[in-house]
Amino acid sequence: MDLQLNGQIVLVTAASKGLGKATARQFAREGAKVAICARSELVEKAAAEIENETGTEVLAIRADLTKPEDVERVIETTVTRFGGLDILVTNTGGPPSGSFDDVDLTEWETSVNLILLSAVRLIKLALPYLRKSFTPAILTITSSSTKQPVQNLILSNSIRLSVIGLTKSLSRELGLDRIRVNSILPGWTYTERVEELIAARTARNGKSPAEEIANINSTVPLGRMGKPEEFANVAVFLCSPAASFINGVMLQVDGGLCQSVL
Ligand code: NAD
Repeated sequence: MDLQLNGQIVLVTAASKGLGKATARQFAREGAKVAICARSELVEKAAAEIENETGTEVLAIRADLTKPEDVERVIETTVTRFGGLDILVTNTGGPPSGSFDDVDLTEWETSVNLILLSAVRLIKLALPYLRKSFTPAILTITSSSTKQPVQNLILSNSIRLSVIGLTKSLSRELGLDRIRVNSILPGWTYTERVEELIAARTARNGKSPAEEIANINSTVPLGRMGKPEEFANVAVFLCSPAASFINGVMLQVDGGLCQSVL
């Protein structure tokens, strides 16, 4: 199948590692012009790695998504370099782990700023360009925690649902602009974020990392965690013109983790 992504202009945020980087790489393999952002020099490293592998130009932008001025610069730099924007993938780092008692109000505010407000700011600034695109799409990366809370992740369990509400509302508001808006709800996918969560769990309960991993795997009907590229394949398809009639979908990519019927 031709995903019709050749030459499309794509911005994937928080993409120096993990799900964001895997998604950027897959877009580049399909011939898209890709911009990525993250806070450290790892973003340039990731861009160079993807460029070397695919021969496609990847623009690296250092930016902290909690800072409105950085978000503004990310959009401006992307459209200045590539001349527009067709696809926006909003991703961030994960919030700190912990139960309600563990997390203070400052962490709540910081996490709302990181997870919800960064998506709002990115989408607001991207919209004028997406409205000019022939094949515009927005994808928010959220979490399986929006369907089934994860133990000790009160911030993710709570705040990500607001991104789901935003995504669904925008899929209705922006339909007549032809902008498709969807979300992917990843389940356990082996990245550095998951390594951190496993380290936090082992520190809390004294089990070994191997035991924790086995524990997590046993909750997934497929018996294992996902790989970032398995997530990326779905993300790239959902954003592509090949998925032109998919809009307002909250798609679980979780190996069957969530137990709800619908
Ligand atoms: P990761 O920690 O491996 O990568 C996160 C990326 O975000 C990195 O590139 C990091 O540099 C960047 N980042 C973090 N804070 C940033 C900031 N303030 N500004 C700019 N960039 C920033 O995480 P991941 O596993 O790839 O997960 C991506 C998102 O999906 C996270 O929000 C995570 O909580 C969520 N998620 C992940 C899983 C999973 O199993 N991996 C499951 C559900 C949800």
